[in-house]
Amino acid sequence: MSRYADFYRESIEQRDAFWSEQARLIAWHTPPRQVCDYSRPPFARWFVGGSTNLCHNALDRHLAQRALQPALVAISTETGTERSYSFAELHAEVQRMAAVLRALGVNKGDRVLIYMPMIAEAAFAMLACARIGALHSVVFGGFAAGSLALRIEDAEPVAVVSADAGSRGGKVLPYKPLLDEAIARSKHKPAAVLLVDRGLAPMPRQPGRDHDWALLRAQQLDTVVPCEWVESTHPSYTLYTSGTTGRPKGVQRDTGGYAVALAASMQHIFGAQAGQTAFTTSDIGWVVGHSYIIYGPLIAGLTSILYEGLPTRPNAGVWWSIVEKYRVTHMFSAPTALRVLRKQDPDWFGKYDLSSLKALWLAGEPLDASTAQWISDALRVPVIDNYWQTETGWPILALAHAVEPQSTRFGSPGKAMYGYHVKLIDEASGQELNTPGQKGVLAIEGPLPPGCMQTVWRDDARFVDTYWKSLPGRLIYNTFDWGVRDADGYHFILGRTDDVINVAGHRLGTREIEESLATHPNIAEVAVVGVADPFKGQAAMAFAVARDSTGLDSAAARLKFEGELMQQVDRQLGAVARPSRVHFVGALPKTRSGKLLRRALQAVAEHRDPGDLSTLEDPVALQQVRDLLDAPK
Ligand code: ATP
Ligand code: MG
Repeated sequence: MSRYADFYRESIEQRDAFWSEQARLIAWHTPPRQVCDYSRPPFARWFVGGSTNLCHNALDRHLAQRALQPALVAISTETGTERSYSFAELHAEVQRMAAVLRALGVNKGDRVLIYMPMIAEAAFAMLACARIGALHSVVFGGFAAGSLALRIEDAEPVAVVSADAGSRGGKVLPYKPLLDEAIARSKHKPAAVLLVDRGLAPMPRQPGRDHDWALLRAQQLDTVVPCEWVESTHPSYTLYTSGTTGRPKGVQRDTGGYAVALAASMQHIFGAQAGQTAFTTSDIGWVVGHSYIIYGPLIAGLTSILYEGLPTRPNAGVWWSIVEKYRVTHMFSAPTALRVLRKQDPDWFGKYDLSSLKALWLAGEPLDASTAQWISDALRVPVIDNYWQTETGWPILALAHAVEPQSTRFGSPGKAMYGYHVKLIDEASGQELNTPGQKGVLAIEGPLPPGCMQTVWRDDARFVDTYWKSLPGRLIYNTFDWGVRDADGYHFILGRTDDVINVAGHRLGTREIEESLATHPNIAEVAVVGVADPFKGQAAMAFAVARDSTGLDSAAARLKFEGELMQQVDRQLGAVARPSRVHFVGALPKTRSGKLLRRALQAVAEHRDPGDLSTLEDPVALQQVRDLLDAPK
């Protein structure tokens, strides 16, 4: 029996003993009385009776040992600025922000909506909320007024923290007009708006409601705001899922369970030690940003880098220059960003000293084997695909190298992480599938481990019905992803359950076909969707972005390439999986968090209304697909 297998088994079979041990990784004001209360499934209450504070664990706790160590380094290649805050400085800034929020009427349990670019003040605001027991609801800064208004109505914040503008690719994106419009549209009106003026865009203030951070901060320079000790089960924040499959769900997370889960993951999954440096390229508007830009690294005493800018500006070496300069040990990114870098190709890696780097973690969407191989050859460190969801807060599948080094299988995000009782379930019968190679829905037996969602914000019924009652015959958490496991416990994600297509009675994961197409050296990115077909029920239709499209100008050249790709799928998966068409496009429609929006592609391909597109990054990509399909053949 391997070390990891033992560790995992203990986490499931000796659940309370296991997590009680992990709970020692954080500081408690009052130690918990009970590890897990699962008397009312599927609602799990972790570390009942304990009281703690996330901000205390992220900051105050480190002051004795590492007050002068950088805690947060905010780098913007948009404004050309770098600001470093030691733990002591960050502690002071967060107290100022906490005092200002309190003065604006924010109390324990109140919500604060944070609509911010990737600047240090966004981190101050999140930590300040945690400090006073208020719940933050961070809304991705790229969202337009309509999406923001919906989230304001759902969270009913007492205050909103925002800024004059963000910036992307050198283009200033004013936030304040969007915020004003969103508040005007929303039925709920926040009492106060706190504004960070970066001097990027004009920002009219509404007297009485709008306040200037710089002015209010100046009145609180030496303020002391002690941490509010909250129950372990006190909600720390709400956060919306990416909206890839439909209406986003407001995930509500607790305090103690989350702190323990993150501290444990920093140790067992990331093998991180205090004093090291994490660079997570996500956005604070997403779960990866919450867990691994802000809370996880700080709780573990690491320096965390907060980055505003593109991965390709001023050039595709910018991230690696940051790794060199700050001696980054832990890097976390998303496959989509790496595919962008790969398209740029030149050898930027050789130009920098990357010897500090221990590993690269990638999550958020499938990591195709070809991209994984490319980046691990380039970096020569382990590349660790990990699979999880906004709902879970930390990885469900990964390789916990810190517990036991294990070999990587490209295309697989690895094994079930400790605490997650992962099962594959037959969608029709609800039966558990135990034979290696059987495809099924990835599900988790309750209770979900610490750190996972408590419920859907203000909607317990949606939590139970959506997540726990959608598989027949039993109460079990549905990830809505489709997967398969090999004999060694490595899992492969085959796609989302609603992306599974049925071709002439064969159930195929769109992911399998995409993975096969992506092995072609001239494919940068590809999406496969099922399209209604009068003969086969559904047919697979592919949309591909070529790495180099110079030879694809003529219809004949495209047809030849299409034929080549189809043959490749025939060889690898069999003719049944062959896409009916491969369309070449300049870009694929994605959510703002960089995920393929397959449901929109599918709707357009079936000439249907694509529905809610508020999470779409760039409408042009979808329009191009529409034009292409409408064009005369
Ligand atoms: P919504 O739930 O609103 O439709 P979403 O599922 O995209 O949006 P997230 O919580 O951001 O919202 O994403 C989690 C999903 O991303 C997973 O359920 C899975 O489909 C996909 N995913 C995440 N990591 C991986 C990975 N390593 N490999 C494959 N898929 C992944
Ligand atoms: Mg989801």
